Amino acid sequence: MKIGTPKEVMEGEARVAMTPDSALQLQKLGYDCAIEAGAGKAAGFSDAAYKEAGVEVIKSAAALYKAADIVAKVRPPNDTEAKRLRKDQLLISFFWPAQNEEQMQQLAEKGTSVIAMDMVPRISRAQKMDALSSMANIAGYRAVIEAGNNFGRFFTGQVTAAGKVPPAKVLIVGAGVAGLAAIGTSTSLGAITYAFDVRPEVAEQVESMGAEFVYLDFEEEQQDGSGTGGYAAPSSPEFREAQLAKFRELAPEMDIVITTALIPNREAPELWTEDMVKSMKPGSVIVDLAAEKGGNCKLTVKDDKIVTDNGVTIIGYTDFPSRMATQSSSLYATNIRHMMTDLTPEKDGQVNHDMEDDVIRGATVAHAGEVTFPPPPPKVA
Ligand code: NAD
Repeated sequence: MKIGTPKEVMEGEARVAMTPDSALQLQKLGYDCAIEAGAGKAAGFSDAAYKEAGVEVIKSAAALYKAADIVAKVRPPNDTEAKRLRKDQLLISFFWPAQNEEQMQQLAEKGTSVIAMDMVPRISRAQKMDALSSMANIAGYRAVIEAGNNFGRFFTGQVTAAGKVPPAKVLIVGAGVAGLAAIGTSTSLGAITYAFDVRPEVAEQVESMGAEFVYLDFEEEQQDGSGTGGYAAPSSPEFREAQLAKFRELAPEMDIVITTALIPNREAPELWTEDMVKSMKPGSVIVDLAAEKGGNCKLTVKDDKIVTDNGVTIIGYTDFPSRMATQSSSLYATNIRHMMTDLTPEKDGQVNHDMEDDVIRGATVAHAGEVTFPPPPPKVA
């Protein structure tokens, strides 16, 4: 069978779902590989590099979709792309099925199978295919780099002949995958780093990375904001008040605030209010990684950067992985390659779409003419 990767059509999307390296691995599974001409260019992979890795370069997207049995891409298909998909073809991409029901229904009716990379169950065995984590890791790193780029000072403190420089103070709100990556990047650059999460079990991880966990003045037994599956649950009004009071206290001191707080299937909680922004020093920077879901900061403008009247820069970009397209394409292509490994137990270049397999079942949102979302809960941890 042939795996084909088209050029991403969404404006500004620089990632690609197959790299020359991942193509070599896919060929070891028995597949032929193809890309649309120029598909890897924005991520730093030339057509020549693909050709050298044994990948066929196909001139147009239409011809690529025609030639491929499996279409691997990054973003969910747009209408034109969805029309090109056909019966018995397999699409593997981010799909966001809960927000994409109409297209999911159409593809299922047509007989296209769809594996949504955002639906890979977050169980240990599936970590190698967990594209949400690999992209969140990059977003967390890049958020700190972006903050640094907009901050007029060093992260680390220095004593130089030209004067003494205090270290920057960085607060990371939300210590999930992106937050932990941001903490690691911030501490490695030498900033004094603080972090807060509603899930108290992450305090140890935060501290082991050299950051200080921010505790609230709140009774301990009421402080657990953990929901199911390692995710957060919405906070009680009292807890939220205690959290906001602590943030109000910290705001004037912090140079950089990176917010990453999310609750599954909800708008992002608003945690950094207008008065907190007003109390920050001029030159401070906020990077709101929750911008896509409405933002954690009241003043965030999605997909944009603003500077407030009191000189605080607020960054609401939603394309952090695409801003590091070489790295994110390599990791995403590897996630896809691992998915293909599980789909190809015989290494014979043939897909065995085993709906008894927890991971494959969990990620499949359309198969054999049916919508298969939402999946049943996984049987193993
Ligand atoms: P996420 O992106 O949904 O949320 C980011 C963080 O925001 C979470 O840590 C959450 O607790 C926090 N948060 C929510 N509301 C908040 C508030 N009001 N204030 C402060 N913080 C708030 O989460 P994620 O990064 O995708 O993952 C979170 C969990 O999933 C973690 O427990 C992680 O270990 C687990 N996980 C497991 C696997 C696996 O086993 N394969 C893979 C990835 C993640």
